[in-house]
Amino acid sequence: MAGSSFDPGVEAPMGILGQKSSSRATRAVVDLDALSGNVRSILRSLSPKTGLMAVVKANGYGHGAVMVARGAVDAGATNLAVATVGEGVRLRAAGLSEPILVLSPIDPSEVERAVHHRLSLTVADPDVVDAVETTRARLRRAAPVSLHVKVDTGMRRNGAPPEEAVSLAERVAGSPRLRLDGFFTHFASADESDERFTLDQAAVFDRCVGRLTARGIPVPRLHAANSAAALRSRRYDYDLVRVGIALYGLPPSPAVPLLPSMRPVLTLRSRVARVIDLVSGDTVSYGRTYRAAENETAALVPIGYADGYPRALSGRGYMGLGGVRAPVRGRVCMDQTVIGVVPGGRVAVGDEVAVVGDGRDAAPTLTEIARLAGTINYEIATGIAARVPRLYVRAGTVVAVEDDTGPHAAALHE
Ligand SMILES: *Cc1c(COP(=O)(O)O)cnc(C)c1O
Repeated sequence: MAGSSFDPGVEAPMGILGQKSSSRATRAVVDLDALSGNVRSILRSLSPKTGLMAVVKANGYGHGAVMVARGAVDAGATNLAVATVGEGVRLRAAGLSEPILVLSPIDPSEVERAVHHRLSLTVADPDVVDAVETTRARLRRAAPVSLHVKVDTGMRRNGAPPEEAVSLAERVAGSPRLRLDGFFTHFASADESDERFTLDQAAVFDRCVGRLTARGIPVPRLHAANSAAALRSRRYDYDLVRVGIALYGLPPSPAVPLLPSMRPVLTLRSRVARVIDLVSGDTVSYGRTYRAAENETAALVPIGYADGYPRALSGRGYMGLGGVRAPVRGRVCMDQTVIGVVPGGRVAVGDEVAVVGDGRDAAPTLTEIARLAGTINYEIATGIAARVPRLYVRAGTVVAVEDDTGPHAAALHE
C-alpha cells in the first residue's frame, strides 16, 4: 500500500497483474515512474523561471486524473488544469490543494460550485466576469475569486479579442472581489512543422502584455505554451507552460517529437479468453469481413470498442501475442475482438496480450493505434473507458487500482 492514499478499508484485488487475478483480464497499466520522469524531463528543459501547469483534463487524458495530478505535483508541477468544474471538484475532493485552472468556458450556473471549491476560472467575456462578481458578492467569502483572462490570438475558439482582453484584465484587476491571477493564450498549430503562425500568435500576445503594462495593470502570470510549443522552443515559456499530452509520454504530432528521455506512461493489456480453431472458409465476427484461407488458429481477446479499442481497427489493427504481431481478424465488436495467431504459433487461454505497448514490444504504441484508426493519440487516450481498470505501478509494484467501482487499495507485486 506504500504510496497509496486510497482508503485501505477497500478489499485489495488479488494477483492483479498475474494469471489468477480476480480483476478483469483487460486492464490499463499506468507507470507512475514514467510519469515522474516525463515531468522532470519537461521541467529540466524549461527556462529557469518557468513553472509547469500539468493538464489533467478528461480524466488525465484517460490515465486517471487524481493519480496523475498527485504524481505530477510530487515531481514538481506547481499548477493543475482541467476542462470542467466537475473535474476540478474531483481533484479537490481527493485532497489536491494546488491552484486548479478550469480551461473551458463554464456555464454561469456553475460559478458558485467553482468558487466554493477554490477553482480558478478562465474568462473571455464581460458577462461571465459579471456572473462571477455577483456570485462572489452573494457568498460573502473572504478570498477574491481567482481568474485567468484568455486572449484569442488566432485560434478563434475561446478567448477575447486582444483589446477586449486587455480591458477585461483591467476590470478584473480593479475589482476587490476578483483576483487577476493569469493572462494567457492558446496556439492553433504549434504541433505543425511550420512555426510561423505560432510566432505570429506569440507576437500578438506580447503586444497585449505591453498594453497591460502601458495601462498600469499589474501583469499577472503569463502562459501560452501547450506541449508542442514547450517541446519545440523556449520562445513560448513565459511564467508557466500548460503541458498535457507530453506528460503521458505521447508526442503531440509526428512533427514535434518528445525529448529523448520521455516514455509512454500507459500500456493496455489483456489475456486470451478463448482459442478458436478456424477451418478454411470460416468467416469471423459481424459482417463476415474476414475469411480464413486455410485452417488457422485465432484467439479471442475481451476488449472492444466500448473499452475504447477503436472499431476502425477492424481488419487493420494488431496486438502483441507471444512477442509477435497478431493481426485483428474481422470486425472489432463492442466487448470482444478476434486476433490471428501466426502459423506455428502456440496460444493458450490466459496468455498475455499486449494491446497498447510502450514501443519496446510487439504491440503498437497508442500513437500507432491512432494512426491506424485515422485519428490522433489524444482521442485514443481519452477514449479508454471507465470500465477498464487502471493499475498504478511504482517500481514494479501495483500501488493503487481504480475501476468503475471506484478506487481500491492494492499491495501486490507484479
Ligand atoms: C488541452 C489544453 C492544453 C494542453 O494541450 P497539450 O497539447 O495536451 O499539451 C493546453 N492549453 C489549453 C487551453 C488546453 O485546452
